[in-house]
Amino acid sequence: MRRKLVAGNWKMNGVRASLGELDAIAAMVAEGVDVAVAVPFTLIAAAAERVPGLGIGAQDVHHADAGAHTGCVSAAQAGDAGARFTIVGHSERRADCNETDTIVRAKAKAARRHGLDVILCVGETLAERDAGQAVSVVTAQLAGSLPEGAAGDWLSVAYEPVWAIGTGRTPTVADVAAMHGAVRAELRRLSGEEAARVRVLYGGSVTADNAAALIGASDVDGALVGGASLTAAKFVPIIAAAAAL
Ligand code: PEP
Repeated sequence: MRRKLVAGNWKMNGVRASLGELDAIAAMVAEGVDVAVAVPFTLIAAAAERVPGLGIGAQDVHHADAGAHTGCVSAAQAGDAGARFTIVGHSERRADCNETDTIVRAKAKAARRHGLDVILCVGETLAERDAGQAVSVVTAQLAGSLPEGAAGDWLSVAYEPVWAIGTGRTPTVADVAAMHGAVRAELRRLSGEEAARVRVLYGGSVTADNAAALIGASDVDGALVGGASLTAAKFVPIIAAAAAL
């Protein structure tokens, strides 16, 4: 009942010459899954113009609508440039920019005020997993950063274990299924019936080789993909794997 979503995150990669990668990625939209790419702010307008059928988004937005925040970009500005969605709460921003759950929630609310869909990221560190705290950390992050009125037509949650991002390591399929079940239960506690409509994505070292197993795990509704989304050659097979499930 929940349509699969495969979203790319280009992080601080890509210049205008990279936009050609989006052509073959956009062609995958016809395959029955939702496909999106969060490009750097500098490429949003050009990407949205080049591949209007693809969901182009931002990797972050500021929680304020406007003002004295040098170097930041508001949800209104991202939307004006052509973004349809934004990622919030990515672990790299939580770590690099000290973003707390409170700030992440404010960013999600700002995105909604300006009509952007939201991919809200949560995930535990290796130390937290080794200490047996993975589920409690992730569910607490979710409770702290989920905006009120969360609804499946605009919100996806991405479970991204910090230790799996960009490392080539992934949790077992059983661990992914267990965490997604816990995330879904917490969503139900927080949002009631609406939780059944919210997509929960897995993120962290997804490749063409492991995509079918990870996205095929119970309660997984798609993937958030970093490194392997940078080229069509690597990203298209991941989208195809999701479409085949
Ligand atoms: C990410 O940063 O969201 C991510 C999942 O990265 P990678 O796929 O490179 O691990």
